Amino acid sequence: MTIIEAGKIAADKLNQAKVPSAILDAEVLLACTLKKSKEFILANPKLKITKAQEKKYKALVKRRSKFEPVAYLTGEKEFYGLRFLVNKNVLIPRPETELLVEEVIKYVGTKSLTICDVGTGSGAIAVALKKYLPQTKIIATDISKSALNTAKKNADLNKAEISFIKTNLIYNIKDKIDLIAANLPYVPEEEKKIKNVFSKPLKYEPAGALYAGRYGLDSYEKLFQQTSNLPRKPTALFCEIGSNYAQKNKKMAQEYFPQAKIEIKNDLCDKKRLMIIKN
Ligand code: GLN
Repeated sequence: MTIIEAGKIAADKLNQAKVPSAILDAEVLLACTLKKSKEFILANPKLKITKAQEKKYKALVKRRSKFEPVAYLTGEKEFYGLRFLVNKNVLIPRPETELLVEEVIKYVGTKSLTICDVGTGSGAIAVALKKYLPQTKIIATDISKSALNTAKKNADLNKAEISFIKTNLIYNIKDKIDLIAANLPYVPEEEKKIKNVFSKPLKYEPAGALYAGRYGLDSYEKLFQQTSNLPRKPTALFCEIGSNYAQKNKKMAQEYFPQAKIEIKNDLCDKKRLMIIKN
């Protein structure tokens, strides 16, 4: 079987299963199977693939047809121009989270601050910040040991020096934190019930990294509680938030930080996505 034949069969199968971006996914998975670039696949349509490659490709396409995210199939995801390893223990880094990284980079500038990425997951935020703000000290926490293991691998892969701590949010951290960056779970519990092509892939991701109670605010409430009890409060918190209950989240933050200036920024899809709390 040739590259073009294999790709066509796969794209048809994914289309039939109603997978969005069927053609792109067929190409990406074929490139992954052959351990070549997508450009190579496109440039060599008549090249024959081996029986073993065909078998491996079919297995990946079958998993994708059940809506398993492409990143879990290839084992990696690009974020902020960097490469990250991902697996079922960590949330796949999202393009909208680049807004948070960008805003933190702008805010910090050349200052030598201590930044804590709370609930680091794959380590994407912590690693990206360290690469672009090399003068800062970065602490990254997670409650999940397997997530921390993945984050450590990603720090090594990208040669980023980060202090990892296994804890619940910022509980018991001894360092003085100047700035908090967090992409905590914020999906309302009720959204677990939704069934469409966009929600199906979420079933493959760790539920503990996505869902946070009735309004998706429970994790942030705990973080605000812990933060407001610190002897020296961070000067700023940058929190990725859910758009549906953004105002409710802002009201809650205002209760924990009555003196703070709080603003909400929209992502590229014009959804409320980032809450910046300046103390
Ligand atoms: N943006 C993610 C989603 O809706 C949620 C990430 C999160 O809960 N922190 O798929």
